Amino acid sequence: MSAPVTTTGPAVPGTAYEPVIGLEVHAQLSTRSKMFCGCSRDYWEAAPNSRVCPVCLGMPGVLPVINRRAVELTILTGLAMGCEIPERAKFDRKNYPYPDLMKGYQISQYDEPLCVGGALDVEAEGAPRTVRLERIHLEEDTARLLHRDDDGGARSLLDVNRAGVPLMEIVTRPDMHSAAQAVAFLRALRQLLRYIGASDADMEKGSFRCDANVSLRPRGESALGTKVEVKNMNSFRAVGRAIESEIRRQQAALNAGERIVQETRGYLESSGETAPQRSKEEAHDYRYFPEPDLPPLRLEEERIGALRAALCELPGPRRLRFEHEYGLTPDEARTLTESRERADDYERSVHLASGLSGIGDREDYPRTLAHWFIGDVARLLNTLGSDAELRDTQLTPGHVAELAGLVSEGTITASTAKQVLDIAFESGELPQSIVQSRGLAQVRDEEEIDRLARQVIEGQPKAVADYRGGKESAIGFLVGQLMRLARGRADPHDAAAALRRHLDA
Ligand code: ADP
Ligand code: MG
Ligand code: ZN
Repeated sequence: MSAPVTTTGPAVPGTAYEPVIGLEVHAQLSTRSKMFCGCSRDYWEAAPNSRVCPVCLGMPGVLPVINRRAVELTILTGLAMGCEIPERAKFDRKNYPYPDLMKGYQISQYDEPLCVGGALDVEAEGAPRTVRLERIHLEEDTARLLHRDDDGGARSLLDVNRAGVPLMEIVTRPDMHSAAQAVAFLRALRQLLRYIGASDADMEKGSFRCDANVSLRPRGESALGTKVEVKNMNSFRAVGRAIESEIRRQQAALNAGERIVQETRGYLESSGETAPQRSKEEAHDYRYFPEPDLPPLRLEEERIGALRAALCELPGPRRLRFEHEYGLTPDEARTLTESRERADDYERSVHLASGLSGIGDREDYPRTLAHWFIGDVARLLNTLGSDAELRDTQLTPGHVAELAGLVSEGTITASTAKQVLDIAFESGELPQSIVQSRGLAQVRDEEEIDRLARQVIEGQPKAVADYRGGKESAIGFLVGQLMRLARGRADPHDAAAALRRHLDA
């Protein structure tokens, strides 16, 4: 499976190198049960070793049963990235001795994976870029080893809950050339997996993990240089830093006339650098062979077609549709399609507003709503964390539509609307009722505004004198005073007009 590899030789002084990066991403699938047994795959908050059975504990004599949903989610992922789904796939045993492997082998897929080829379009460093995929295969996760060094001395603890969790491995071709491109790919992939509901793809929880293969080659060269596999990154930031430092390390080695050794290195968060884990000589011989306890899978066209039909609208197409259907800028559309939920909430709000008089008859109301979602709604959500969505709050798409409607028909001012949103966010109360119960409706009564204007003029002789003396900007201050008396419920234009009427008389 390895691409042709040349050994990158000692540098000719002055050689410019191009980094080449290929990623191997593991994503835990959002199934209910594990890959080959009925145990719950929701181990994250469960007590250690509470989600286990003879199958995932690797007891002799038990038989695995394939999780149908895991196969479907893997194929769905492949379809979302234009992979070819072969007619046949099979599982293989990958043998290696390690304490996190309960059976002494991992059930994986070797030469007949579920998905082949495909690509993901990403945007990195301001330019579009296509990252091709090698394949996607399905396997089982291993147990979790926790290394402790405390009172009892150095010990390793084993949590088998994770053993047997369905794990999809997405292998890219070496199509990336900078850390930024690799991170952009990972972000786009995470977004896609969440959109289609294949994985919650959370790096911190370990449901989304990435190994980076990094090599350098003289610029202009098409053959690949010797690669180093970098492991042990648990955030996007760590991936970026690990790749950058590995590129620097290889560059320095080549410049010093050394050869790059093919090896596996681990990223150390503390130093921000990579350190050797094992070299090619120590690499495992996995002795793959077909899993005798599982039949090969026949992937019927009809079932693939049904999965394809069930695929939701993907982030890229949805973003473009938002641009032309709702008249949004590319940035606005990107922000609103960041997650499927946010995009759904926005569209629900647009739909609800379309039926409201005062807003639904305005041509650009989808943009008005977009500004609410990107501005004040996002500001409030951010107070709950970067991944917060409306569902985590008292607010609904209906609240936002109603609120925008109240502004648009002139019932409340834009500044009142912010107060109303804050109240609704806390209480879930409907905007209409907030406005009524708190007397927040805009003061439209001309006499009332006129009265307030006179009150301001009486109380602010200095600003009045300034204005009359030619200091035009003093009007802003006076308008502010009027707005304060009106508790934000006056229209600033009306206020300025009333003030000028008296001042200029
Ligand atoms: P191996 O057999 O060592 O696992 P593979 O050919 O399966 O290697 O590739 C594993 C990953 O490494 C893939 O993502 C691939 O794109 C990437 N890769 C392969 N060769 C190189 C290279 N020379 N430089 C950077 N990445 C590479
Ligand atoms: Mg490999
Ligand atoms: Zn089990």
